[in-house]
Amino acid sequence: MNERAPTVRLGHLYPDHLNIYADRGNIAVFRRRLEWRSLGLEVVEVGLGEEIPGDCNLYYLGGGQDRDQLLVAEDLVGKVEPLRQAADNGAVVLAVCGGYQLMGHSYATADGKKMPGTGLLDLETAAGDDRLTGDVVLNVSLDDRTNTVVGYENHAGRTRLGPACTPLGRVVKGHGNNGEDGFEGAVSGRRVGTYLHGPLLPKNPWLADILLRWALDHSGASAELEPLDDTLEQEAHATAVARAGLKR
Ligand code: GLN
Repeated sequence: MNERAPTVRLGHLYPDHLNIYADRGNIAVFRRRLEWRSLGLEVVEVGLGEEIPGDCNLYYLGGGQDRDQLLVAEDLVGKVEPLRQAADNGAVVLAVCGGYQLMGHSYATADGKKMPGTGLLDLETAAGDDRLTGDVVLNVSLDDRTNTVVGYENHAGRTRLGPACTPLGRVVKGHGNNGEDGFEGAVSGRRVGTYLHGPLLPKNPWLADILLRWALDHSGASAELEPLDDTLEQEAHATAVARAGLKR
């Protein structure tokens, strides 16, 4: 790798606590899709008690069990300011499931614990009596493009969006944010939250590239993302759509 190649700096928050269903795989996708284009990824891991660097182009939070979310929630809320400022200045935030819930105002668990969130996304979550699980297919419009996004969900939380964000997608198959309103995830500017695991990005290279384009733009690099041969990724995507009982 050419050392002067434009590099995206990614802040990976709580890699030890928020990483279920191989959510860490999303970072591998960011890395490979940049490297295939002779661009680089630098990852800064941020754990409990460690400061969040304010100079990342992309911040990532994976999913977690309620127990792990409880462990990180206070810590995160207490030190979120650099992340908030970076996001206000156009840095990208991708948050999955437990991480998505922590982007909201609060999350009330089934056993009555209410944990604070960062409020980076205008949403609220409360656990229901059962878990919403299974394959998911969404119709997503982002960055003036529309596409199908596939993944897997497993959450007790029911999330309701406030007026300051919009859903990431419309549910074609699955439960989505709350199993009722037909929407999944949330977007506000370059902040994206979703319940989708899988991990999310290997089967949705289209979405990975939108996030990378935003992150590169934030880094000031004028790098264009050349198209890649995504035959394998598209096949995996199509298989997930077919498995959900929908036409390929
Ligand atoms: N603990 C949260 C819930 O059950 C999130 C789970 C997850 O990240 N898969 O709703």
